[in-house]
Amino acid sequence: MSLKHYDRLALKMIIMTLSFSLIPLFALGTTIYIQFTTAYQSKVAESAKTLAQNRRASIELFFDERIAQLNTVAQTHPIEKLKDEAFLKKIFDTLLAKSKSFIDIGVIDSQGNHQAYVGPHYDKLKSVNYAQEEWFNAVLTTGIYISDVFMGFRKAPHFIIAVTTIDNNQIYILRATINSAIIDEMVRAGQVGKRGDAFIVNQENILQTQPRFSGQLLGKPTSPDFSSSVGSTVEFVNLKNEENIYATAQIKNPKWVLVIREDVQEEMAPLFKAQFVENLIMIFGILLVVIGTVVTTRTMTRRLEKMELEKAKSEDLMVQSSKMAALGKMAAGIAHEINNPLQIIGDQAGWMKDLLDSEDMKTNDNYQEFEQCIKKIERQVNRSREITHRLLRFGRRMETTQDMVDVNNLLSETITFLENEAHYRDITIQTQYDTGLPEITTDSNQLQQVFLNIIDNAIDAVGQSGKIFVKTAQPSNSSKEILVTVQDNGPGMPKEVLARIFDPFFTTKRADEGTGLGLSISYSIIEKLRGKITVSSEEGKGTTFIITLPVK
Ligand code: ADP
Repeated sequence: MSLKHYDRLALKMIIMTLSFSLIPLFALGTTIYIQFTTAYQSKVAESAKTLAQNRRASIELFFDERIAQLNTVAQTHPIEKLKDEAFLKKIFDTLLAKSKSFIDIGVIDSQGNHQAYVGPHYDKLKSVNYAQEEWFNAVLTTGIYISDVFMGFRKAPHFIIAVTTIDNNQIYILRATINSAIIDEMVRAGQVGKRGDAFIVNQENILQTQPRFSGQLLGKPTSPDFSSSVGSTVEFVNLKNEENIYATAQIKNPKWVLVIREDVQEEMAPLFKAQFVENLIMIFGILLVVIGTVVTTRTMTRRLEKMELEKAKSEDLMVQSSKMAALGKMAAGIAHEINNPLQIIGDQAGWMKDLLDSEDMKTNDNYQEFEQCIKKIERQVNRSREITHRLLRFGRRMETTQDMVDVNNLLSETITFLENEAHYRDITIQTQYDTGLPEITTDSNQLQQVFLNIIDNAIDAVGQSGKIFVKTAQPSNSSKEILVTVQDNGPGMPKEVLARIFDPFFTTKRADEGTGLGLSISYSIIEKLRGKITVSSEEGKGTTFIITLPVK
């Protein structure tokens, strides 16, 4: 499997795991978000509505109390007494003691004339006739009347409450003027937060109290028109990018509407805070899931990748071993078969040489030529014999002996065999031996053969002028292995060559220079000695062989 395959696998696993974990997380998060928002919105709306209803209750109570007071006065005193301004003043004082909101009080007969008046505007009002006033006719028909707020000549906002009483079949009106500041105060209690507002509008949508932001007393409010609202309502209104909650409560008498406005941003601040925290938790959760998934998936695929590589490696080793075994058998067979004809060719060449030495042949013109040819035949026969012997040794997988070997000594001895060749080619063999190396139990002859092959190959690879570095080491004092490194600064090998160097008969050298058996034999020897050969090579930089040998 290629590395890309593992990347793709990891990507697929990451996408799958993320979808399975993030989709429910998103669904849960969104559901909580929506549920929470809806619940909080209705809670805010509900509390605005309750506030409006509470304010309305206290305003209605105020009106009911004033009407009750006036009714009590009107019903419990004969009109003759009430017409007496000194008596009326006493009653007025009693009323004032209960509520400072009374401004004046007057008794008016059915023709609209003041029969008595107590209050600060005696001169102006005593002689006024109300017969043509709207309120006068209204109170006569309904029995109780509360006016809208007006300025009048007093230049202060006020309104009137009037009730009727009958005495001696004559209808009279008891009329009181009330300072509307008291209503303003009650409404103001509904102005919550920094941007909240509360006010009252009459049926013509005229402001009856002074709002905080939404307009001027006795003017039109800047809010939507709620003057015809019935009962109590609540709604979210989005005007000019400003979202407000409007809660209204209709007042029975007078027919006013109390409006409470709350700023959504302000009221929902705790919700927004909770949403922010939820978002943070979501982001943190998502990050955690993503990082966790990526890390575990990468770890898993890396482990898989490693296992796959190890498997491939051990399969390679098995293939290599079985290849060697099969080829070894074949090679031994061939070598055996070739040995006999070689023997005969060698003998015959010897015989030809003997014949050449006879007198009559020496005088032959081609004597020199024959002698050269026979020498060549003998040289090549010897070379072939050497190869067949190697093959036989390789094929037979000779029994190993067990000696106590000082690897440093064995290496220096081996290097002396090659020193001349190296010197001749201007190649320096540099050594670095670990003097604390333990002696190992192994087959010294075969091990020397391996060192010879590898250093010889290094000399061949370097060719002319270069360096070979031979080093021994023990990974740690307690280690049961020693390492021998042979490093050269030759041309290195391309991947295709590197993959085949341990194959029997694989060579890149000229036919008369290489047999392709050196490394395959070395490989099988080291395998027999329970060691390991590894090689790394970089084109243009050189090659490093590391032989690992067991101490015992
Ligand atoms: P031979 O030496 O007869 O070719 P080997 O089995 O010893 O056979 O080596 C096989 C091949 O491995 C060599 O032909 C060469 O291409 C390559 N090789 C071995 N050692 C080195 C090295 N140190 N640097 C570069 N190539 C090497």
